Amino acid sequence: MSGNISFTMIKPSAVSAGYSGGILKMIEEGGFRIKALRMHHLTEAQAMKFYAVHAERPFYHDLVRFMSSGPVVAAILEKADAVSAFRALIGSTNPADAAEGTVRKHYGKSVQENAVHGSDSDENALIEASFFFSGFEQY
Ligand code: ATP
Ligand code: MG
Repeated sequence: MSGNISFTMIKPSAVSAGYSGGILKMIEEGGFRIKALRMHHLTEAQAMKFYAVHAERPFYHDLVRFMSSGPVVAAILEKADAVSAFRALIGSTNPADAAEGTVRKHYGKSVQENAVHGSDSDENALIEASFFFSGFEQY
């Protein structure tokens, strides 16, 4: 059975470009309910921990530096089958390959600066949500 929670971050370059409102609008119009929402400037240590699954990948250190370069907008999203529904809304990792009408096609600049993060499994959605938000911050 699939879960009803996904976790997202609007990445620093998209926040600084002024895309937060447009991206949140696409998310709400896509039928997701915002269950928690906050800006946060990740430290390098926090970004390393968040992306620890990618520690062996060649782009890891660049990714950590990028994700801690400015504030992100973090959110917990609720919808039936949320993880796969949200990945469909955001599109492929590389914005150049993302389908028309997706968040990454519209707002992404490159593989790294691809506008948003989306959880890849129900288990990780819960881990990521509780990394950012306490129970008191979830509505
Ligand atoms: P995310 O986890 O951010 O939702 P994703 O699941 O589509 O993205 P992952 O494979 O988990 O993609 O990679 C995590 C992030 O690492 C990507 O969103 C991107 O910012 C960066 N990344 C992935 N592959 C590359 C690459 N080849 N070069 C540079 N950065 C990359
Ligand atoms: Mg991923």
